[in-house]
Amino acid sequence: MRTALCTDPLFLQHAEPPGHPERRARLEAVTAALDRSGLVERCVRLAPRRAELSELALAHDAQFVAALQAQIEGRSGFVDPDTYHSPASWSTALYAAGAAIDATRAALSGDVDAAFVLARPPGHHAESRRAMGFCLLNNIAVAAAVARAQGADRVAILDWDVHHGNGTQEIFWRDPNVLYLSVHQYPFYPGTGANAEIGEGEGRGTTLNVPLPAGMGPDEYDFVFDHIFMPALRAFAPALILVSAGYDAHVDDPLANMRLVEKSYAGFVHRLASLGKPLVALLEGGYDLHGVSASASATLDSLLHPAPCRQGVAQCAPPAEESCARTRAALTGTTLGLALADAA
Ligand SMILES: [Zn+2]
Repeated sequence: MRTALCTDPLFLQHAEPPGHPERRARLEAVTAALDRSGLVERCVRLAPRRAELSELALAHDAQFVAALQAQIEGRSGFVDPDTYHSPASWSTALYAAGAAIDATRAALSGDVDAAFVLARPPGHHAESRRAMGFCLLNNIAVAAAVARAQGADRVAILDWDVHHGNGTQEIFWRDPNVLYLSVHQYPFYPGTGANAEIGEGEGRGTTLNVPLPAGMGPDEYDFVFDHIFMPALRAFAPALILVSAGYDAHVDDPLANMRLVEKSYAGFVHRLASLGKPLVALLEGGYDLHGVSASASATLDSLLHPAPCRQGVAQCAPPAEESCARTRAALTGTTLGLALADAA
């Protein structure tokens, strides 16, 4: 597929305090691995720009954005015990959101089929009115909201980061036109993402959570894709698929306890690419330098070279099958619940 790549050394200006896992070396390792892979030359390069405040306001409360800027611009400190900022973090966060918006726009317009955004700080924990979990602004939510404002009728956000994307879920909790799908370690930070969390009001049934216990691996994730995510995406028929591409479910990740390998992410991309929709992946977590760089390389390689993959895993650990069944049960009576019941 014709694929855009958006990354830039400026994303290293968000500078961590000593010992923090969300560190510049992550992005340096990923870009070095991509440079060595020869994949970069096959991509369309996109230069990032700062998001406009009016774009941020589509996903965030404008007063929150103004207060965050006043608190962190030009200063080092913490917005919560996990979430640091350095003097350039505000500007860098605007560029990360702007990169997500422009990559999404490029895919939606048909200029490219797919895009991969390698930016920091990450975004999926940031809520409409709160920065948290290493995240200042919710890049993927801003990109989805801009896509909606520009005429995309329905947008899907699939989150394979090992942590639940509480911020993305909160922002679209009542929105029937944005489907949020997450598979994550549970119970775990940030504590949300139970099967019963399916959205409310008009958005009831367009939030799908598949929590998994620690220790799950490629077969369990493939099972979730084939039995929940893929049928839900086919039924929802989004104009665009955005991916919160964290790589902290990799077996080597120091913060979490799952067992994915780099090849697992290629399988996810191949499945999603088979739907034939514009596809945009955004880096979220992933804290083992080899794990994150090998997995990001596998993601970009599979965006550039879609291939059929084995689907319909026959065997997986019972907790994953049980979690899929609970998600299906929670969605009973909703449109996507019907589609999942038919697919089961
Ligand atoms: Zn994470």
